[in-house]
Amino acid sequence: MIFKMRKAYRFELITFCMIIIFFAGFPAVNVHGLGISNCYSPLNKKRPFRLKTRYIILHTTEGALEGSLRKVCRYGETHYFVTPAGKVYRIIDRRRIATHTGRSMWNGQTTLDNISIGIEVVGFHDKDITDDQYAALRELLQQLKKIYHIKDKNILTHSMVAYGRPNIFHPQKHRGRKKCGMIFAHPDVRRRLGLSAGPKRDPDVAARRLVVADQELHRFLYKPPKVLAALNESTAQAGNRSMIIAQGNNAWRIARDKYDDSSTLYIYPNGTRLRGNEIREWNNMPVGTRVLFLDEEREQEFEGFLEIGKDGNSVQDLAGNLYADATTIYFFPSGLIRTGAEMKKSASLRKLLKAPPKGTRVLVGYLYGGYVQKGRPASRIAGKKWKYPSTFYRLPNGRILSGDEIEDKSIPLNTLIFMMK
Ligand SMILES: [Zn+2]
Repeated sequence: MIFKMRKAYRFELITFCMIIIFFAGFPAVNVHGLGISNCYSPLNKKRPFRLKTRYIILHTTEGALEGSLRKVCRYGETHYFVTPAGKVYRIIDRRRIATHTGRSMWNGQTTLDNISIGIEVVGFHDKDITDDQYAALRELLQQLKKIYHIKDKNILTHSMVAYGRPNIFHPQKHRGRKKCGMIFAHPDVRRRLGLSAGPKRDPDVAARRLVVADQELHRFLYKPPKVLAALNESTAQAGNRSMIIAQGNNAWRIARDKYDDSSTLYIYPNGTRLRGNEIREWNNMPVGTRVLFLDEEREQEFEGFLEIGKDGNSVQDLAGNLYADATTIYFFPSGLIRTGAEMKKSASLRKLLKAPPKGTRVLVGYLYGGYVQKGRPASRIAGKKWKYPSTFYRLPNGRILSGDEIEDKSIPLNTLIFMMK
């Protein structure tokens, strides 16, 4: 009952926000051509005014538009929100404090919320943004720089300023608590945004106030790869988004400072389910343990395929005890696509389920939407999810595209659709 009420409340909030955007928020186009609409958080008026503004902090939502908008609106977690189509929403008045950085430090100064403006960009820390986002963000940054006299070197990413308290994995205060906004450290991205290169080093690491807990992230922020295009490739290969405990992918790497939180659920290969706050033994967590974020906003952080031979070697590694579930979908290298439940029922397929070949790809927690047909377009099958980055399309030629990569009219008949449960 309580759960239902909370859901209804959430729904009302997003509806409210959407209505505001729709009716009250006709873009106030200014001289520069940037359309900003008001979509103020219910918390806006309660937030105190900032005394100083020294930094702009860039964030990536790590999730699709609607869920992210609902979250930042509900908690007042940003000043601006930039959609993939390049629309900009005001969530908190830029003169007030938004809670967007959490535990943060830069150059010895902590609690950056009090001295910074936050911009959430719909996207992922390791994925390039859209052309429309480049245009909108560039314009927004120009305006804010002018208003607050902020230098380019003070336009930072959330991953640069977030830090973590000592924990079982890192006994000292450390950088690497968040990867958020990482992409905005890349010189190519900054150039396209009209910004000069970012800081050359982490001032708090240099002054030994903090240690580096994530070397890979640190390298990207201060010695980025020359070619941005190589980014998606290399991070995908490093299994960066894998939610499975494996060598080099421990609970901290997956859940960061939420690793021992009660909202983080660990499902051991033997089926044992423990919450983060119930675990005492962190160093011997079995390989193949699945990590789930029960907090609905965080669940969206993982969207994509797992692969046999890359993210694990058995179906249990990839899907834990959901391996034979109807919401676990297998894409075999041969082109065969079946759900775990279907395979368990069939004697011949059961063998394949036991030992799927290397390269088999798996979606966990997905619904099988069936084929696009005449009079049965993607939007009818997947509803509003049809455009979500988490929705996948398998075209008749075998190519797989996500919802944000596809145009409704260009989806061929007999394309299969899979959407997140
Ligand atoms: Zn962030």
